[in-house]
Amino acid sequence: MKIHEYQAKDLMSKFGIPVPQGRTVDKPENAAKAAAEIGKRVAVKAQIHAGGRGKGGGIKLADSAEETKSKSDEIIGMTLVTHQTGPQGKLVQKVLVEEALEIEKELYVGMVIDRETSSIVLIASEEGGVEIEVVAAESPEKILKEFIDPRVGMQSFQARKVAFRLNLPKELIREGTKLLFNLYRLFVECDASLAEINPLVITKDGRLLAADAKVNFDDNALYRHEDIAALRDLNEEEPTEIEASKNHLSYVKLDGNVGCMVNGAGLAMATMDIIQLHGSMPANFLDVGGAASSERVEQAFRILLSDKNVKAVLINIFGGIVRCDRVATGVVEAAKRLDIKVPIVVRLAGTNCELAGEILNKSGLTFMVADDLGDAAKKAVEVAQG
Ligand code: GDP
Ligand code: MN
Repeated sequence: MKIHEYQAKDLMSKFGIPVPQGRTVDKPENAAKAAAEIGKRVAVKAQIHAGGRGKGGGIKLADSAEETKSKSDEIIGMTLVTHQTGPQGKLVQKVLVEEALEIEKELYVGMVIDRETSSIVLIASEEGGVEIEVVAAESPEKILKEFIDPRVGMQSFQARKVAFRLNLPKELIREGTKLLFNLYRLFVECDASLAEINPLVITKDGRLLAADAKVNFDDNALYRHEDIAALRDLNEEEPTEIEASKNHLSYVKLDGNVGCMVNGAGLAMATMDIIQLHGSMPANFLDVGGAASSERVEQAFRILLSDKNVKAVLINIFGGIVRCDRVATGVVEAAKRLDIKVPIVVRLAGTNCELAGEILNKSGLTFMVADDLGDAAKKAVEVAQG
């Protein structure tokens, strides 16, 4: 789960990480009030679940309450396009108005889970800011990595080493070390999957502050963090994905034109690969799970068909736990209830697959029955491309 910058800053602040003074508002008048309270130059920052806002025009500085109002008016309601939003962009509903910082230097610090070493990795760079991806690509030696063994936690020497290698000024070493510890505590105690400060700013008056904040959480741990789960902003999520999760379907929307309905995550991945191999792109990842009941199948169909890009549906089910004849019955019932206008290619393999073929053939509906996965993908790609 993702949260907004302002929420991540609140959380960081609770863990003792210094953040600029600020307030989040959804109306330009209130932005002006916030600026008046802060009483100096402010930054007006679009709150969306995507980075790259600076480059995309979602962050503006303002010198007065009046200017804050007009800058907020420009940002609230805009569709902000950044390299992380995709071309359709995201509607901005709130802005964070905060004390503008006089920046001396921008650093990067972040933590993620490293699956290869089964540890938490602290990533840091002296060259933080909006070009961090370029730094990582072109001068990887400027990116420090410190692996933290979760069994013993972050050790003092590790935090100090990173603080020194970030070339923090002497008088900020203690503060920097403390900040890294606090970020680590937040990461572990909140079950985060990512905790990032970019930029971590050194101001001209010698303060160290999180000027931006990003925290993602492990969805599987949210059950034990009611307060964090409450920060979820459904406006920022794909409506079809929300619908799918209510129905216990694992669904991720993608940009292609072949809708996929598959049981098992591995088979779903393989299906997506083979669609690409045959020259199209999958419209989604969808795992209907072991129990592909007719209700499940119907829900899955509804979600797939609500995507206007879907030009063909490929159903690929392996009857291991579930019987193919039951899936076929579910598909037929769902197809009869819904008004399906796109061609459906079906590949069923495993227990009772012959019986399933008969059910599909006798249904009076037109399904394209495929012999194997290769054949299914080829057919689906052909019909999708018209
Ligand atoms: P992002 O583009 O979505 O990552 O948003 P950030 O909050 O990281 O802001 C992008 C850039 O805007 C930062 O790297 C800074 O250079 C600049 N910026 C952000 N906040 C302030 C501020 O308070 N004062 C000044 N001068 N610049 C800021
Ligand atoms: Mn940033």
